[in-house]
Amino acid sequence: MSRFLAERYRDLEPYTPGEQPKIKGLIKLNTNESPYPPGPRTLAAVTDAALAAGLRRYNDPDATELKSLLAEKYGVGPENIHVSNGSDDILNFSFQAFGSDGVLFPDVSYGFYKVFTELHGLKYTAVPLKPGFRIEPADYTGDAGMTVLANPNAPTGRALPVSDIEEILKKTKNHVVLIDEAYAGFGAGSCVPLVSEYPNLLVTMTFSKSRSLAGARLGFAIADSELIRDLERLKYSTNPYNVNSITQAAGCAAVLEDDYYRENCRKISETREKTTKELEALGFSVIPSESNFIFVRTDKIGGTELYRDLRARNILVRHFDRRDISDYNRITIGTEEEMGILIQAIREILGRI
Ligand SMILES: *Cc1c(COP(=O)(O)O)cnc(C)c1O
Repeated sequence: MSRFLAERYRDLEPYTPGEQPKIKGLIKLNTNESPYPPGPRTLAAVTDAALAAGLRRYNDPDATELKSLLAEKYGVGPENIHVSNGSDDILNFSFQAFGSDGVLFPDVSYGFYKVFTELHGLKYTAVPLKPGFRIEPADYTGDAGMTVLANPNAPTGRALPVSDIEEILKKTKNHVVLIDEAYAGFGAGSCVPLVSEYPNLLVTMTFSKSRSLAGARLGFAIADSELIRDLERLKYSTNPYNVNSITQAAGCAAVLEDDYYRENCRKISETREKTTKELEALGFSVIPSESNFIFVRTDKIGGTELYRDLRARNILVRHFDRRDISDYNRITIGTEEEMGILIQAIREILGRI
């Protein structure tokens, strides 16, 4: 740390992203990426955008075409859509814009929420979960600050029914309710249909998980047009060009190629159910998941030990260094083949104990 860093950032503890090691043959189940490649139209759009004179010019800061395709897909107007450099970017703007009365989120949830409160000097309440990592909607009905819920939640995978979220919305009039739907598409209901009724509802989504574009950095928000204008105000005060032209082209093609990604999500959900049953048969408890990962533990081996033993076999899962969840590992759902190798490895590891 240099002596030039502003005082207020000196205690900031940045988010630790999951590792991205470049190890040959590694089975990478640690950052919830899709095991399937982007679709053929998406890849062709990337090549075309790079070959066209496009890179010489600035990209469209308003992402007009992408917004209009997303608006059509989600049954809203373009004025209800904000696009940004990954949904992390939108979360950042949202905490900055709407968090000044404090922020509530579950104490086991996406680690970035706490980082954003520290970055922007906001008060926060980390609300304890109920047994089984269940979110209790009544814990969020006090209208005490901005509520942020990942639905499905991460790293647990557990989803709240939309009716439970509506209960929170009915009791929250003076603050934004942000529903982070990064894992939409794997079975959980979406709050997008509620946007027209609740001017304080902000739904964020990403192309990173269900649409195989994590490295392209593309996220979007759907909300009342005034909330969207607030987000645009911050984006245009930070970096209007934060979604580059190649990513915009990939995003447009991905929306047009939605059937391909929907089929991938269906396959991933099917693999998830199969893997869950196999792990349960091996003595694991698996939190019911509606996302592309599962959160698992067993009495037979500790969380850290399982993580290390898998890693020694070139299989990477995510272990969180936090006392309350250190028994658990979060495992991204890969292809059927990858999950077969994982199950076999776990069988061998347990067999040796
Ligand atoms: C992955 C993830 C994000 C971030 O997605 P990007 O669009 O890649 O920035 C946001 N929220 C949750 C809960 C996530 O798991």
